[in-house]
Amino acid sequence: MVCRQLQQQIDPRDFRSWIVRLQVVSDQDGRVGLGAPNAFSRDWIRENLFDDICALWQQFDPEKRQLCLTVLCLNTETINARVEDPTGAPTGPQANAAPAIALGASFEKYRFDNFVVGPSNEVAWAMAKAAARGPQARFNPLFIHGSYGLGKTHLLRAIAHQARLHAPTRRVSYLTAEDFVQNFVSALRGSQSAEFKKKVRSLDLLLIDDIHFLAGKAATQEEFVHTLCSLIESGAQVVLSADRSPGEIASFDDRLRSHLNGGLVCRIAPAGFELRRDILSNRIAEMADEFDGLDVPNPVLDFLAAKVSTSPRELLGALNMILSGTIMLGRPITLDAAQDILSDIVRATRVKVSVADIQKGTASWFGLSKEDLLSRRKTRNIVRPRQIAMYLAKQLTSSSLPMIGQRFDGRDHTTVIHAVKTINRLIDDDPLFANEVEGLRRSLTKLHSHNE
Ligand code: ADP
Ligand code: MG
Repeated sequence: MVCRQLQQQIDPRDFRSWIVRLQVVSDQDGRVGLGAPNAFSRDWIRENLFDDICALWQQFDPEKRQLCLTVLCLNTETINARVEDPTGAPTGPQANAAPAIALGASFEKYRFDNFVVGPSNEVAWAMAKAAARGPQARFNPLFIHGSYGLGKTHLLRAIAHQARLHAPTRRVSYLTAEDFVQNFVSALRGSQSAEFKKKVRSLDLLLIDDIHFLAGKAATQEEFVHTLCSLIESGAQVVLSADRSPGEIASFDDRLRSHLNGGLVCRIAPAGFELRRDILSNRIAEMADEFDGLDVPNPVLDFLAAKVSTSPRELLGALNMILSGTIMLGRPITLDAAQDILSDIVRATRVKVSVADIQKGTASWFGLSKEDLLSRRKTRNIVRPRQIAMYLAKQLTSSSLPMIGQRFDGRDHTTVIHAVKTINRLIDDDPLFANEVEGLRRSLTKLHSHNE
């Protein structure tokens, strides 16, 4: 029922890419777990659709159970599915699928021909195209970095898609760094690590997305360095992405860092106005198939491109909101309507909260002084708020983990990682706690949008 309602409410492509792959995995203690196939889709759903799903669920579930999102446990079958058999025969649950489509439908969505190129991303784009071409690696590894939402995943998936299309026999694997860790850990547990290593190392093209996730994971980094070396030696192309440059990823093993710097490092910078405008036009042209004769007036596009400057991800999200608030309801897309719909999100994207604001706001929310919050005291009523403040600093600012640690009286980044994990877990486990953190988060962001 919830699923059917959702299908009517959201973009059919989103529905196909994300919702149909969700599974109800557990139903205990009055909570229902939804399992996503991987961390990437879990994060996407959490960011884009989870609120809607929860609201619908509450509407239809007589027991009003809580929903939580998890990643489906990977077993060895999934490893086989992700990292294909070196003989080229797909194994595991996708045994019947032809290799060319084994990458999954979401790869169809991210292609070179729908990646719009501008001055901020043309180097990364050109290098990505060269990496897709093969067969010999040109620069190894290719390391693409840039902040959230600027198109890294799009490029990596486009490489995988293109390589598969043009050389179906090339052994290609795309993994998020989180997948890599999970595959690696479960292979170790199941004592299949030799097999896992062999599979990974016999690839022709390996793409690992969001490699900053390996920060602080020494054992996996070690394994990763070995994998990297052996792939480079065998002439396979490795492509990596991260939200920071190799030098900025603290706690990266020096050897790993020097390998990364030894390849080709390129950055995707934030898109300028022209590129943002082109990305919008391009998306609208793509959507014209679905919405017959879709036409968005230029002033609306100019307005959107001018106002939503954070990243293409937010820009396209804003476009979706405008379309769902107008043509989907049978209303014309006017500048007035667009301004109305966007006033909320535009305000939200302009909100800038600093680590200092967060510390101050969190301390007062819990009735502590800022000194208490930053102190070394370990009593629970101080530790928890301190962890919440670190968690919010990670969520609401662009500060890196080491930078946040610095601002909390010179603590180590691992303390911040621990805090973020702890708070994430508590939020997942305890709705009241989640509510509290959400209340604080709102008060912090509201405070600052009023100040403008
Ligand atoms: P990242 O992985 O860097 O966080 P993504 O690759 O997920 O970012 O991009 C976020 C969204 O923006 C995706 O829907 C992607 O297709 C879109 N996008 C980003 N850059 C471009 C671009 N240059 N052209 C077209 N779409 C883009
Ligand atoms: Mg990404």
